[in-house]
Amino acid sequence: MTKVIVLDPGHGGKDPGAVANGLQEKKLVLDIAKRVRKELNDQYSGHRVILTRDRDQFVSLQKRCDIANQAKAACFVSIHVNAGGGTGFESFVVPNAHPRSAGLLQRNIHQAMAPVLKKYSMRDRGRKVDTQAASRRIHVVRATRMKACLTENLFIDAKKDAALLKKSSFLAEVAAAHADAIARTEGLKTKAKSDPKPADEWIRVSVNGQQKHAFQKRESVLSFVRDHVKAGDTVDIKR
Ligand SMILES: [Zn+2]
Repeated sequence: MTKVIVLDPGHGGKDPGAVANGLQEKKLVLDIAKRVRKELNDQYSGHRVILTRDRDQFVSLQKRCDIANQAKAACFVSIHVNAGGGTGFESFVVPNAHPRSAGLLQRNIHQAMAPVLKKYSMRDRGRKVDTQAASRRIHVVRATRMKACLTENLFIDAKKDAALLKKSSFLAEVAAAHADAIARTEGLKTKAKSDPKPADEWIRVSVNGQQKHAFQKRESVLSFVRDHVKAGDTVDIKR
């Protein structure tokens, strides 16, 4: 069965989300979400990725949930950038919906993010469980009927965080971590490697200083060499 993964880039259109340091949350999260989709589609099979928006467009919180519920998604990840005077990465789930599977998704996300955060000396602020039923930001994790997690990827209003958010390479690593975590949670299959087989390894043999033969099979080399050595030739083998 094809698993549906819904990625939810926060905000959009008239709602820019957090804005600071020349950055807009709505743009950053759309960028990250598209990278997560590409990563999932490039590396894994057996799933379908839906974005709740794939352009700069306003989508209500309820509409985002409806998209995921109607698609009978297996997994919902809402992607945000934080603001308000902190630094680092954190995520939210709600306790009532799918406590165990959402917890697993959240754990996998933090585990996949750990090396990225470490590399850039960014703080993991922790896996949070949002218990405030009225909290607006978690509406999407509460009203979706599948495991759901909301990630807050650094603080747009912190200088050090914003500097990283401006780096395309950093966004790519964040996206890859999200994709890895989703794939692990959903047990997605890695695509059969499409890269060509390593070039066939030829073994070249020269006899008395002249290249005589190139072999692919070890056994043929051995018998060839044995015969020449018996005949008193000088045999040289190169890879
Ligand atoms: Zn947000």
